[in-house]
Amino acid sequence: MSFTIEERGNPNTQNYRVFFRNSEGKYISPFHDIPMYADEAQNIFNMVVEVPRWTNAKMEIATKDPLNPIKQDVKKGNLRYVANVFPHKGYIWNYGAIPQTWEDPGHKDRDTGCCGDNDPIDVCDIGSKVCSRGEVIKVKVLGILAMIDEGETDWKVVAINVEDPEAKKFNNIDDVRRLKPGYLEATVDWFRKYKVPDGKPENQFAFNEEFKDKDFAIETIKSTHGFWKALISQETSAGGLNCKNTCVSTGDSPFCCTNDEAKAVVDGTCPCGSEDPIPSSVDKWFYYEKN
Ligand SMILES: [Mg+2]
Repeated sequence: MSFTIEERGNPNTQNYRVFFRNSEGKYISPFHDIPMYADEAQNIFNMVVEVPRWTNAKMEIATKDPLNPIKQDVKKGNLRYVANVFPHKGYIWNYGAIPQTWEDPGHKDRDTGCCGDNDPIDVCDIGSKVCSRGEVIKVKVLGILAMIDEGETDWKVVAINVEDPEAKKFNNIDDVRRLKPGYLEATVDWFRKYKVPDGKPENQFAFNEEFKDKDFAIETIKSTHGFWKALISQETSAGGLNCKNTCVSTGDSPFCCTNDEAKAVVDGTCPCGSEDPIPSSVDKWFYYEKN
């Protein structure tokens, strides 16, 4: 199964969008139409890359827009870039989401005591390749971190691109600790501090800031898939989310639309244009002093 992207609007502006098509050329939603599993028997999942490693633009699947293109998050009228908190530069993994999952804001997690953040589950790909925005890669799940962001549960799955030359050596979270020393600690440090330069509090973590293993991670992903199934079949109210899709069978989803309807959504956005520069302020390094 392969996917291609179609860019619309002007890169690095608020009208920029990345739409997705499947191998038949049909427009799809990356949130709803890309299967969660790439290979269920092998526990290989699909991951939609929203942010390539080393970049700062907070690009994300627009869960509230029809067909859920990737767009840049906007805060107080400005495009959002994550700060470089020393010694990190941008995101330190390829960052993205597992399709067909949803962290239900109406479900209180037994372990974290907090409700979901209303987004698909997040993934950090620790493979060495710098992926491109909108790439759909197959990942092997290795573990998971339970981040608490202002009272919401925000799981961070740690995974590796199955195409990575070293992927066979990575089968659980301890392999990351052993073979990429410092990476897990850097990951917790990154998530703890990344919003502090924007005036937000440090993020917290459940389980004494420890990563849970592969089996726990897979069970967590499966539970978010269950929440997504209820969402797409309208058992759970959509709370502002856009569930329009083209591939979930109509029996399973009342939100399934025709190819013409999907094309009209894309045609209704700005045509592809020249890009704006990324502001040089994005390169600033923040030195974090804890009081
Ligand atoms: Mg999230």
